[in-house]
Amino acid sequence: MDTVKKEIERLKKEKNAVILAHYYVNDEVQEIADYIGDSYYLAKLAKTVDAKTIVFCGVSFMGESAKILNPEKTILMPDMSADCPMAHMAEAEKIQEMREMYDDLAVVCYINSTAELKCLSDVCVTSSNAVKIVKSLPNKNIFFIPDENLGRYVAEQVPEKNVILNDGFCHVHISVTADNVKAIKEKYPNALVLAHPECKNEVLALADYIGSTSGIIDYASKSDNTEFIICTESGVGYKLREQNPDKKFYFAGTKHFCPNMKLNTLEKVLRVLETGENAVEVSEEKRRNSLAPLDRMLELGK
Ligand code: SF4
Repeated sequence: MDTVKKEIERLKKEKNAVILAHYYVNDEVQEIADYIGDSYYLAKLAKTVDAKTIVFCGVSFMGESAKILNPEKTILMPDMSADCPMAHMAEAEKIQEMREMYDDLAVVCYINSTAELKCLSDVCVTSSNAVKIVKSLPNKNIFFIPDENLGRYVAEQVPEKNVILNDGFCHVHISVTADNVKAIKEKYPNALVLAHPECKNEVLALADYIGSTSGIIDYASKSDNTEFIICTESGVGYKLREQNPDKKFYFAGTKHFCPNMKLNTLEKVLRVLETGENAVEVSEEKRRNSLAPLDRMLELGK
């Protein structure tokens, strides 16, 4: 494995490449990454990072967003089949129907979505900035796609808006149930519950803190508490343990692993660096149409 890591290091320098990794990928990939973060951090970073090539260890909508923001850079995905099922869970016809129903509608699109859905939207958001951005919009009526749970959470935080929900979901986050959390809490009564807003309402109702993946890491790191029940994908454990070696983390849910994120391996990172395979391509028309909502997110999220 060390040989693979050394070769990755050598090729990174030779090709002026950087490796970006999402918190949900395998530990071994996070270990060799230049930057690790959630989708908001990585989207912002892809725009400013000084490199010709970005190896994006995540799922396809992330590589696609990086390419949309940086057409001049080469974006390589270690595994082109790593896709987020939720990214596809909204329909163009439904969006059109909503636009016809409400004159002032803003279609707010979670960044976990395909470029096709972004093209049909007014602004993108991530779990870290969704509340702030929806609050700042002049529109009263909001159609939030694709994730129903994040949409519901936003609706509760911004009661002055009429947030219409779509029925998309993340199968990893909805595998966490209130009963899972209660069972762990019974064993570790002092543990604080930290939950991602993609979790179901019944789980968020039990949470001491609700926030994005990076919000959860920050909260646990700054807290004086030493035990936490984590309601999100288990890859986040890498950073949690690295930053807090003396604290304990218990993961709730029956499916902690996002199988798509785990398709990113060291061998595949090495292969794309060697061959230049798996470059993300986005047509110029699609790029232009999906850039506006992404740029608006970066502007409003400042
Ligand atoms: S964890 Fe859920 S939202 Fe994230 S990539 Fe996997 S399926 Fe998609």
